Amino acid sequence: MPTLQEVAARLDPFDVVIVGAGPSGSACAYWLAHAGWSVCLIEKKTFPREKTCGDGLTPRSVHQIVEMGLEDVVAQHGHRYQGLRSFGFGASLEMKWPEHPIFPNYGYTITRFNLDGLVAERAQSFGATLLTGVEAVDLIDATPARPGALGGAAGVVVKEKSTGTSAEIRGRYLVVGDGQNSRLGRALGTARNREWPMGMALRGYYTSDRHDEPWIDSHLDIRDPRGEVVPGYGWIFPLGDGRVNVGVGLLSTGGAWKGVNTTKLQEYFVAQTAEAWGLNDETCLGPATGGRLPMGLAIGPRVGPTTLTIGDAAGTVNPFNGEGIAYGYESGRLAAGVLGEALSSGDASALALYDERMDAAYGDYYKVARAFVRLISEPKILSVCVGAGLRIKPLMNELLAIMANLMSNDNRGPAEVGYRAMVRLAQAVPDEAYRMLLGNRSSRA
Ligand SMILES: Cc1cc2nc3c(=O)[nH]c(=O)nc-3n(C[C@H](O)[C@H](O)[C@H](O)COP(=O)(O)OP(=O)(O)OC[C@H]3O[C@@H](n4cnc5c(N)ncnc54)[C@H](O)[C@@H]3O)c2cc1C
Repeated sequence: MPTLQEVAARLDPFDVVIVGAGPSGSACAYWLAHAGWSVCLIEKKTFPREKTCGDGLTPRSVHQIVEMGLEDVVAQHGHRYQGLRSFGFGASLEMKWPEHPIFPNYGYTITRFNLDGLVAERAQSFGATLLTGVEAVDLIDATPARPGALGGAAGVVVKEKSTGTSAEIRGRYLVVGDGQNSRLGRALGTARNREWPMGMALRGYYTSDRHDEPWIDSHLDIRDPRGEVVPGYGWIFPLGDGRVNVGVGLLSTGGAWKGVNTTKLQEYFVAQTAEAWGLNDETCLGPATGGRLPMGLAIGPRVGPTTLTIGDAAGTVNPFNGEGIAYGYESGRLAAGVLGEALSSGDASALALYDERMDAAYGDYYKVARAFVRLISEPKILSVCVGAGLRIKPLMNELLAIMANLMSNDNRGPAEVGYRAMVRLAQAVPDEAYRMLLGNRSSRA
């Protein structure tokens, strides 16, 4: 790995400077380096590093892992599983991942401690310059944001954590993939649409004899010690290495969002599943940690004159299921594609294609998802739907394909037909009317 001084001493700017080596930044770096562009990927932590996550890769993530040539090494460190087991309101159901022409019918669980460095190093092996332990602290030659557009920048000022050394890293283009808090994104002018849902989640690790089960579990009702349902959902993801990842999540659409303490929610959930999974003080591997999930493309703008945001910094988490890794990889790859076009043509206006492609890929889907989560965050609706739904396996299989975004363009099965009907409805109803239809609870969010 080159030193910061060596990188900063370069005479030419990089084609692209990327801030953040999570799934989005590393995938963007991989695809750019793979195409032969000069890239500098800047990460404030050093790998391997912890990242609070459920550690679940759906078939959609696995597809991107395969495309980056990483499946063998992920399989080595991870645990392959076959589907989702859901519990709620007295019912439970096992659902295998669907057969699909593109996506595999399996997923992996793998800790982010093990996963994220693999992708960053893969980008490096194709020629990307990786700087770790180096934080981007400011923009170089920043130009102000305009309505609907990010500001511009000619790179970033960085600070090396171990030495305190500062330097400038210049690039023709700057990509911001610095995660849910996205300090640099905000410096470029991003803001979150607060009327759209936001997730909040917490997870901890436990040892468990059931660490190598072939299902990931989701619990759609969490109960307090009196047996009352509290807002939120829980998961147990077996990691295959002696541990399970146990976590809870909550959506800001629920009226009770503000009063809920996720630590308390995790306590209730652990108590509820303790016996079945052997969760107790002895098997607990440390305090749970939490984070936010900016979802449904709620953060914008995403494009500036020389700048793009990707992954959580652009709010790409899927509101249906809280999955963000696949969308980090995908948005990083979409960004790499338009940057390649801008660099090849010498025309920065190609960056506008990123917005078009993001909207084409996720716009309708996320509109449906946002409406769906508003509906199910109404406890009465949730209990009726889950209680009835989990007893009808074919219906739930279709819903699984929709919620994990694993529908097929070529297939005209019930999931695709049902989803297309929802899209047509979402397209026909303007945002404003949608909000009225579903009740605008955002003021309490
Ligand atoms: C509790 C929880 C559970 C989750 N479970 C799942 C799950 O099971 N499956 C799933 O698909 N998704 C899950 N998610 C969502 C997923 O973790 C995120 O969507 C995903 O990590 C987004 O990737 P990213 O690259 O955009 O951001 P991040 O993964 O956050 O990466 C950003 C990187 O940028 C670095 N960085 C930040 N600022 C700077 C700076 N100034 N300079 C240099 N580097 C910087 C950070 O250190 C970090 O490495 C979960 C999230 C939470 C909070």
